[in-house]
Parts: sequence; structure tokens; C-alpha cells
Amino acid sequence: MGWESLLTAGIEPLNTGASKQSDMGMELERECPNCGETGFWRTASMMIHIGEKVKWSCNECGYGFVTIDETVDTATA
Ligand SMILES: [Zn+2]
Repeated sequence: MGWESLLTAGIEPLNTGASKQSDMGMELERECPNCGETGFWRTASMMIHIGEKVKWSCNECGYGFVTIDETVDTATA
């Protein structure tokens, strides 16, 4: 599928958080503010003191954003 190449730009490889994947899944239905398509892939995750930080990437254009414990951190939005 090619999405594995996105890991190189991620925070951390997914294999460090493999046991957490069932919580949120690998895909997020959310409208992309850049291209308007719906659907993001989880590209990286890491545990921090306030929760799980997850990096998502748009399936269509590659636009990325970060959530912390399922709260969207949109400092640039
Ligand atoms: Zn997009």
C-alpha cells in the first residue's frame, strides 16, 4: 500500500506502540482541511505524560495533524 514509507516522517515507528493500536484503529474519518477528502491514516504514535500522541496523515494529499489522547492538536489550523 505504500503507507509504510510515511513512517520515516513520523514521530516514532508504530512498532513501539503496537499494543495500543486497537484503541483508536489505524484509520480516522475526518475531513481534511487541505483537500476536503475524508480519511486519515495513523502514521506514528508515542506515549507522553498527558496521553497518547498520534500523528495522522491524509490519504489523499498527505496533510498531517496530531492528536493527543484523541484531542486534536491543531496549532496550525
Ligand atoms: Zn488531504
